[in-house]
Amino acid sequence: MSTQSSERKKPKRSKIRIEPHQISSEAREGNFNEVHQGYITLEEVMKEAERCIMCRKPKGQINCPAHCQIPDMMFNIREGDPLEAAKLAYEYYAFPRSLHRICPALCAQNCIIGKKGDPVNIFDVVRYIVDKFGRPASWYEIPAETGKKIAVIGSGPAGLTLAYYLRKRGHGVTIYEKLSIPGGMLAVGIPEYRLDNELLFQEIEEIKKTGVELVLNKEYGKEFNHSHLMGEMGFDAVVITHGAHKPKWMEIPGNEFEGNMHAVDYLREVGLGNPPKLGSKVAVIGGGDVAIDAVRVSRRYGSESFIVYRRSIEEMPATKSEIHETQIENIPIHFLTNPVEILSDENGRVKAIKLIKMELGEPDDSGRRRPVEIVGSEYIMEVDNVIQAISQEPETESMTEFNMTRWNTFEVNEENNMTNIEGVFAAGDDVTGPYLAITAIADAHKAVRGVHEYLTGEKIEPAPEFSKPKNV
Ligand SMILES: Cc1cc2nc3c(=O)[nH]c(=O)nc-3n(C[C@H](O)[C@H](O)[C@H](O)COP(=O)(O)OP(=O)(O)OC[C@H]3O[C@@H](n4cnc5c(N)ncnc54)[C@H](O)[C@@H]3O)c2cc1C
Repeated sequence: MSTQSSERKKPKRSKIRIEPHQISSEAREGNFNEVHQGYITLEEVMKEAERCIMCRKPKGQINCPAHCQIPDMMFNIREGDPLEAAKLAYEYYAFPRSLHRICPALCAQNCIIGKKGDPVNIFDVVRYIVDKFGRPASWYEIPAETGKKIAVIGSGPAGLTLAYYLRKRGHGVTIYEKLSIPGGMLAVGIPEYRLDNELLFQEIEEIKKTGVELVLNKEYGKEFNHSHLMGEMGFDAVVITHGAHKPKWMEIPGNEFEGNMHAVDYLREVGLGNPPKLGSKVAVIGGGDVAIDAVRVSRRYGSESFIVYRRSIEEMPATKSEIHETQIENIPIHFLTNPVEILSDENGRVKAIKLIKMELGEPDDSGRRRPVEIVGSEYIMEVDNVIQAISQEPETESMTEFNMTRWNTFEVNEENNMTNIEGVFAAGDDVTGPYLAITAIADAHKAVRGVHEYLTGEKIEPAPEFSKPKNV
């Protein structure tokens, strides 16, 4: 259907969003079935898209790190052309179906109508259309081969984005992945009740159909490095996107005890199909999405797990919808509480955790109120395991030739993501620190432009921050 301005009608807009579908709390117990089901009918999707007011300066598009053309997509949908909208989504993303199951939707969080009511549920609208309408034929089209070869280290959101979009420029691309499965944190961090690995693997297969090669079980830094890749292996450029998988531990006594673990290690083993056996009571420490994933997963394996967080719900960094899910699943969160020590039995196994009550003081550098210990409020809780989810960082011990920041991320040229070593680039969590899939994707797009220009001298323009929607 045409999207010419003469044919456009002003739709009736509802102030209330069309609610997406979810499975009930009872149906979630003890299984990893997908919880959030999004929209089920095109009618729901069209009604929700009609709520978009097509602002001239669309805050949703501006605040999406990838600047996906949201108003145009909403417009195409409500005008009865969802296929065109799906084409737009596939232009921006190598794996949009997976992304639209886990993105915290900075677009909707910034949607202008959210100021006075429900923002447009852009996330579920786009999820529906990319699920239903699939990849257009043009998605697979590759121009003439350039003869250039690029090695991408890591197969997470950044690596997959780089691989697909560099291939779309006619370059040969090989991804080297350390683990036995691809997908990075989408596969070995995010649990399957949020993103089914089978769906992710299907999208990776689609990327491979364009000619991208994927080599699993191959660890950069141990078995080979950029000198081998650019020397005897004949690559013209290397991009490191190996993510942030190294645990950061709390500085408290008792970290060495058996049964104390880090959430990234725990969730990785779950993702690889070897879930660690936990006891009946599990304390998960932290207030971010990783803590919420760890607690919800361990509950599904039958433990009575709970979260310990040192601030209050207002300061919790986890996505609001994820905090809401813990409430639906009746998961206790001990707010304003902090661990001071992990205690063990005579065999060195975790048997309890010593906690202290906190109160909020003045705001710190992050703008959140600083938690302050309440003297004399310590108490002990018996637990079988402690799972720490306070943070993680890139593993860079074997990468001593690179300049690193004080956060242990790669220091790169801001324009093109090249590291201090000629021809070696970095992107994703390796550059931003642990963040989001969409920020890793946006950073990877920047690195694609950097690598392509380095190899060919040709400049690629970035996606515009926003464009005037087609209807105005
Ligand atoms: C538990 C958890 C939940 C999250 N939930 C969300 C969410 O809901 N929404 C969201 O947007 N973001 C979420 N994130 C963050 C998001 O997953 C990451 O920001 C994103 O995956 C980063 O992408 P990346 O490609 O930079 O790195 P990664 O996804 O970490 O991928 C790096 C890849 O490199 C591989 N690798 C590591 N070392 C080597 C090596 N030496 N050689 C070869 N390969 C190597 C790794 O195995 C991995 O496959 C979550 C993160 C975690 C940990």
